Amino acid sequence: MSVFSHAEFDDHESLHFINDASTGLRAIIAIHSTVLGPAAGGCRRWSYLSDAEAVTDALRLSRGMTYKNAVAELPFGGGKAVILSSNTAPKSPQLLAAFGRAVDSLGGKYVTAEDVGMSVDDMRQVQQHTKFVSGLPQSGANAGGDPSPWTALGVYLGIAAAVKSRLEKDSLKDLKIAIQGVGHVGAHLCQLLHDAGAKLLVADVNRDNLNAVKTAIPVEVVAPANILYADVDVLAPCALGNVLTSATIPKIKAKVIAGAANNQLSTLADGARLAARKILYAPDYVINAGGIISVSHEYYGASSEDQVRADVEKIPHRLQSIFAESSESGRPTNELADEYARRLIAAGRK
Ligand code: NAD
Repeated sequence: MSVFSHAEFDDHESLHFINDASTGLRAIIAIHSTVLGPAAGGCRRWSYLSDAEAVTDALRLSRGMTYKNAVAELPFGGGKAVILSSNTAPKSPQLLAAFGRAVDSLGGKYVTAEDVGMSVDDMRQVQQHTKFVSGLPQSGANAGGDPSPWTALGVYLGIAAAVKSRLEKDSLKDLKIAIQGVGHVGAHLCQLLHDAGAKLLVADVNRDNLNAVKTAIPVEVVAPANILYADVDVLAPCALGNVLTSATIPKIKAKVIAGAANNQLSTLADGARLAARKILYAPDYVINAGGIISVSHEYYGASSEDQVRADVEKIPHRLQSIFAESSESGRPTNELADEYARRLIAAGRK
């Protein structure tokens, strides 16, 4: 397996492989950049089909965190941890302790938090072994806790901005919106969209998560294989990445794609494919920054929920300027977002 010549290697500062034989922990911590601050990014626990797939994920996700944190104007660089394990298998306190020690051994170069397969409670256990962790339970009106509701709020506001730009509508009322994945973020997003009067189509491979949403609000359930191609105004990918590909894009009917999942585009060229089809794509790391904004306020301390909200509310404005530039220049939104992020990082390096 190649690393330095890997297609997703992008001058990452370091890649750490952790093997703790006594607990069975196998993890990778990728530090993409510490130019703008400690490399922050959640820990994902996933049943990867191969070690190579896990390396690819860690490389891509950590670079995405650098760009996300830069565009959100946070004092963080970008990193990501992946734990190679089934995301439904029980997590032993010993395994979480070993992960906490691994994070601690990096001396603050990497700051962890929850991502797919990890919870607030897990982070509390990780905290017993390192102070370089965020996404911990809140105290009083302070910022912190589960970042997912903040991610959902940012995505909701971003969908409204994209709808205004592409469909010239000021309201989401009666719009049809398909949500792929109703886990932590997707479920909160469904509630916000329902409250705004949207008609929701949802899919999930996890029956419990699907049932929880079905009992809370009226939704139409669609088979996971069909959700991307539903006849809707907006598609919100909120499961995993790599859903927008040369094979899926020609069959998508939505005019707007705006969701929480990281790395939605399989390749850069898929952004151009969407633009060619006049599908407005909200760059994933711009629209889904709400959670890391909360994590940052919590990590650096003494912030209130109101401050987090004020920063999350900046997300639609950033998207609007990307959409406006894209509409003027005809260039894909993902390319414009990447360029903006790289400019901010280059300025930080100076
Ligand atoms: P989650 O694990 O709670 O939810 C993901 C859901 O997607 C699960 O219910 C899962 O069963 C479902 N799913 C997986 N594969 C699917 C498929 N093929 N079709 C339909 N459903 C499928 O994760 P989450 O925290 O809600 O995060 C969702 C996405 O948003 C991830 O890509 C994550 O990296 C990204 N994200 C999350 C946050 C956050 O604050 N949690 C922040 C930024 C980005």
